[in-house]
Amino acid sequence: MAGGEYGTENINGSTTSTSILAAEGVEILLSAEGKVPLSSLDQKKICLFFSANWCRPCRAFIPQLVQLYNTLRNTERNLEIIFVSFDRDENGFREHFKLMPWLAVPFDISIRRQLCNHYHVVRIPSLIPLNPNGESVGEDAVKLIEDYGIDAFPFNRERREELEAMDKMKRQGGKLEDLLLSGARDYVVSGDGRKVLVSELVDKTIGLYFAAHWCPPCRAFTIQLKEAYNELKSSQNRSFEIIFISTDRDPEEFNLHITNMPWLAIPYNDKTQQDLCRIFDIKGIPALVLLGPDGKTLSTNGRALISSYGSKAFPFTESRRDEVEAALRKEVDGLPHQVKDPKHEHVLRLDMAKAYVCDFCKGQGRFWVFSCDKCDFDLHPSCLD
Ligand SMILES: [Zn+2]
Ligand SMILES: [Zn+2]
Repeated sequence: MAGGEYGTENINGSTTSTSILAAEGVEILLSAEGKVPLSSLDQKKICLFFSANWCRPCRAFIPQLVQLYNTLRNTERNLEIIFVSFDRDENGFREHFKLMPWLAVPFDISIRRQLCNHYHVVRIPSLIPLNPNGESVGEDAVKLIEDYGIDAFPFNRERREELEAMDKMKRQGGKLEDLLLSGARDYVVSGDGRKVLVSELVDKTIGLYFAAHWCPPCRAFTIQLKEAYNELKSSQNRSFEIIFISTDRDPEEFNLHITNMPWLAIPYNDKTQQDLCRIFDIKGIPALVLLGPDGKTLSTNGRALISSYGSKAFPFTESRRDEVEAALRKEVDGLPHQVKDPKHEHVLRLDMAKAYVCDFCKGQGRFWVFSCDKCDFDLHPSCLD
């Protein structure tokens, strides 16, 4: 199958973007309408798309790629995607190709193997942009497209570095507008439907709160965050605001969520939500990123700060945290590290707890606790005998 007999060279004797495909034995490509000669693609910008119908991540990625392809082709008429099938048989291939508006290499396991080897494809889905000589430009573009959508075009390393530099500038640049605005939108919304201009939030300490209604740990943390927020908002001189960045699954869920929140939010289904997750490398929710009045990041682990210290952590600087911790240490000066109290059968250890209920007086407790390692017994330091 392989070899030069299918014309690896064009009339001028130079290589083209389809040279490698030709060398691997591909002569025609398939479209929804029928057959397309490979040579008609000589001058195109080609991406090879390795995918299979049995692969869930492939099927999840295709709608995004279809949308991007249709949009890009309005301006980039030269762009073409060629599907290389990882399907187990011809039927799987045909089913899978129905999802795609672009071209395909006819189903052939040995050609697929050769192309995989040539382009070092180690996983699917994989999208390999080719240079004018038909070689890979160097990187699989799937992750880049998942992260940046259509901005990822032309999917090469230079573009990736450019986009990453822009993210870094937004993260470190200290401009709230750069982080929160997109397109013509110059506002964020409140739970009761008001629009608040982002320009009014500049110079405040800001918490970016990443959460979703379906996520139980988020609901638990929202309660703690609300408590700290209300405390901070009621003390006059503190300029603090929280912006909710939703990963809710539908607009109903989002609306339900923000009407129960006292703070502001990026509108539902706004691209900024995904951008902020990427810029601050949010791996799980709930997450709280804290920005100082100068717009610089104070902490990406605001969740731990709020859980441990509540509103006391404000303004969330390192020196404030040291202060709070020193004050807390002072509270337990002179207390033993462990103690045997007549109210409980086991030895109790002095520990720090986010929130607990004292098993003796049934009152709420916070910060310090004498607790049992063996069972679930907690005691206020003040309730020791
Ligand atoms: Zn107690
Ligand atoms: Zn015990």
